[in-house]
Amino acid sequence: MLQDKIAVVTGASSGIGKDIAMKLALKGANIVVHYRSNDEEALALASNIEKIGSKALVVKGDISKMADAEKLIEEAISKFGRVDILVNNAGITKDTLLLKMSEEQFDDVINTNLKGTFNCTKSVTKHMLKQKSGRIINISSVIGVVGNAGQSNYAASKAGIIGFTKSVAKELASRGITANAVAPGFIRTKMTDVLKDEVKEEILKKIPLNKFGEAEDVANLVAFLASDEASYITGQVINIDGGMVM
Ligand code: NAD
Repeated sequence: MLQDKIAVVTGASSGIGKDIAMKLALKGANIVVHYRSNDEEALALASNIEKIGSKALVVKGDISKMADAEKLIEEAISKFGRVDILVNNAGITKDTLLLKMSEEQFDDVINTNLKGTFNCTKSVTKHMLKQKSGRIINISSVIGVVGNAGQSNYAASKAGIIGFTKSVAKELASRGITANAVAPGFIRTKMTDVLKDEVKEEILKKIPLNKFGEAEDVANLVAFLASDEASYITGQVINIDGGMVM
């Protein structure tokens, strides 16, 4: 389905990003495994990708820095000659109530989640414009749609990603490039493991399908959006949350 396509996945050494990278590789894509700090996990993922017959390139960097985002895309182009799919997945939380939130906590989350998405998208766009094709898939969150107490920084960053995605979709559509946002609900990863059991129980009560999502659920949706079958979908926000927000 994605035979010989080149996909860049940011924050791929753990959680949702890792499953997205593996899923795209299983569909035939070659993967640029981008990560920030966990060398061991990134190299293990690259080796698993190669075991199933796809190529992998490992690139370390901090997406909140434009220079690192540019380097990521340049390394992808110099190894593979093109980038067909960009998945802006890397993200962080620094949760606390507004009155306790420091300027640094606000800036860190915006700079990683929103500015990081801008940095990587801007860096890849000139190549996709030349190719007259491309898929940009941004991992937002249902929190960016409905907000959440204690997550004003995160909600702002994820809502920002939605506005950014729609604008980019409008700018790039005439050149055969689609841009969509995926808004997961509660997915079982390192990011959500830290929540207290009482909080998890309260969240579960709000999920009609009565279970938490898995990273693979998000990876399946991303693989679809990256495929030819999704070529007429752009500028959309697709919730994947067991019905939590509807
Ligand atoms: P995770 O913590 O396992 O993965 C996040 C990855 O991003 C990590 O590998 C981390 O190293 C990387 N990263 C963070 N800052 C970075 C930076 N500045 N530069 C490069 N890489 C950086 O968490 P996850 O749950 O897999 O989250 C993946 C994405 O999904 C995030 O954008 C998150 O906001 C989003 N999301 C997650 C959930 C959930 O329930 N887990 C729900 C909605 C949205």
